[in-house]
Amino acid sequence: MQLIIMGAPGAGKGTQAAKLVAKYGIPQISTGDMFRMAVKSGSELGKAAKSCMESGKLVPDEVTIGIVRERLGKADCAKGFILDGFPRTVAQAEALKVILADLGKSLTCVLNVNVPSSELIERAIGRRICKACGATYHIKFNAPIKENICDICGGELYQRADDTAETMANRLRVYEASTRPLIEYYKGIGLYEEIDGCQRIEQVTKDMMSVLANRGA
Ligand code: ADP
Ligand code: AMP
Repeated sequence: MQLIIMGAPGAGKGTQAAKLVAKYGIPQISTGDMFRMAVKSGSELGKAAKSCMESGKLVPDEVTIGIVRERLGKADCAKGFILDGFPRTVAQAEALKVILADLGKSLTCVLNVNVPSSELIERAIGRRICKACGATYHIKFNAPIKENICDICGGELYQRADDTAETMANRLRVYEASTRPLIEYYKGIGLYEEIDGCQRIEQVTKDMMSVLANRGA
């Protein structure tokens, strides 16, 4: 299964991708996570991505497409993958088409998690991530049992530097201008499925699984 989970920043893509990884046994490919790791390691890629990420802009297409091409060619993607946060522009979607064709694969489905922007800001500002295992929490909507401690591995939670009201406003503007047009793009090729992201996390997962089952995945 070659799946894209789309949606505005904070819509719940990463949260849902982690659930689908557990169910389908294929990797989650998050360009945001890849860039954050690169920034942490101080690599050339990290240096190229850092300032864009801090201000809520997109990392240039050629950089982003390059890391996705390399990642999708790895052995663990042979049986499929879940793209989370890629593509974010029509140019990235076009490049993905070529990458998939080169790999002899095609997209199974594009799930778009729909959440109104008023809710997205609260979701992003309250997001907390485990430093050790990367699990995602929310201080109000998905709180850990012990404050600031990961339920899964006991790691310490942190807040992303770009999860501020100011950067979120920018990220939402960028989403409207560059990423929302992908909805029409994928509708046009019959792969698009709309998911109501305003429901409880478990219900969103159920809806995704039922859409995927209907598509034979
Ligand atoms: P994205 O990957 O789309 O940026 P995340 O999966 O990281 O979004 O979710 C953003 C924040 O919203 C996290 O704090 C997460 O715990 C919370 N969240 C995710 N799904 C829901 C939901 N259905 N209802 C309420 N909060 C949610
Ligand atoms: P995310 O973790 O998906 O919220 O992404 C965090 C940041 O990483 C974004 O605000 C961008 O700066 C960068 N980023 C992640 N994915 C992409 C992408 N597909 N194209 C360009 N920039 C990206």
